[in-house]
Amino acid sequence: MNDINWNDYSLETQAIRAGHKRTHEDEHSIPIFATSSYVFKSAEEAALRFTGQKPGNIYSRFTNPTVNAFQERLAFMEKGERCLAFASGMAAIMAVGMGLLKAGDHVVCSRGVFGNTVLMFQNYFSKFGVTTDFVDLIDGAAWESAIKPNTRFLFLETPSNPLIEIANIELLAKLAHKHNCLLIVDNCFCTPVLQKPFESGADIVIHSATKYIDGQGRCVGGAVIASEEIIEKYIYPYLRTGGATMSPFNAWVFLSGLETLSIRMKAHCDNAFELAKWLEQQPAVAKVHYPGLQSHAQHELAKRQQSHFGGIVSFELKGGKEQAWKLIDATEMLSITANLGDVKTTITHPATTTHGRLTPEVRAAAGIKDGLVRISVGLEQVDDIKKDLLKGL
Ligand SMILES: *Cc1c(COP(=O)(O)O)cnc(C)c1O
Repeated sequence: MNDINWNDYSLETQAIRAGHKRTHEDEHSIPIFATSSYVFKSAEEAALRFTGQKPGNIYSRFTNPTVNAFQERLAFMEKGERCLAFASGMAAIMAVGMGLLKAGDHVVCSRGVFGNTVLMFQNYFSKFGVTTDFVDLIDGAAWESAIKPNTRFLFLETPSNPLIEIANIELLAKLAHKHNCLLIVDNCFCTPVLQKPFESGADIVIHSATKYIDGQGRCVGGAVIASEEIIEKYIYPYLRTGGATMSPFNAWVFLSGLETLSIRMKAHCDNAFELAKWLEQQPAVAKVHYPGLQSHAQHELAKRQQSHFGGIVSFELKGGKEQAWKLIDATEMLSITANLGDVKTTITHPATTTHGRLTPEVRAAAGIKDGLVRISVGLEQVDDIKKDLLKGL
């Protein structure tokens, strides 16, 4: 089993079997290696491992067998060369910036990315002489005109949050490469089950494992997947020094999360599609944002780029903020929380939570209306989710 080439297998099989290097104990399930360091057979072996002349574990800030198993499995699933796990999704994004950027560099970032990602570029990398321009995710011309000679990478999430807009990864990868930059895609919403950015030309894929990869809202974690060269040259040296390592326990939880990811994603998508179609028929609803709907502006692109339409639905209520809060408070079963990707359905009011720190003008420019509600559709019976929403519709 230790020498099977998992590239010859499908994602569903990789998700269950890849990455496990069975030990001399013949265990069937991957063990948690709760050890901070590793012993060497001799002083010479210690020296060879420290210089990298001999492979092997040294210290769990650098490598750990349980974390390695998670990294290997996710790399196969994303069709990437190497994966490194991090303590959180934000730690993964931080590592990419710290590894790749230097003073004087420039970044072009989608306006529709996770709020803390905006803050990372705007408030922190800016302190070290890195400038960032934010552009509209689906405006190809805006991406091109924002690129400068010192642009190091383009950064995006697709679908975006909370308006579920879809960017054309292939076109943006070509654009990035034409200008000698990298394309970085945060693939958290789709996971490799629905979308493989490397097949469309992306250079780096980022994950918050906290969301669908865990799938049951238990652990915080993240990952960076890229070529051997990018990982070895830019990301691993930073992880080893910066230290935002994933714990072996969390890696073990995420490994079992990956085992059911494919069937969970299909079920999330089926429930979300059904709910989106139903919401479109509700008189109190002004607009539904879901790429599976004919009414979605990038419906055709979503069909080509993704294998299904995802588990997140957002919609605008005719009554604005008052109606949105009333709907959220009238639900009994749905969880009022900003987390997503959980088997439990969650409901959020973006304008006053995830996007509440933006000024009303910036929020309006981003298209986030006061009546907007976001639902991360879980795996409860979809009729029960509808029943709960009807209490406030
Ligand atoms: C949650 C999230 C992150 C940050 O991940 P953490 O694990 O919470 O640090 C980054 N990107 C996206 C798209 C997210 O949803």
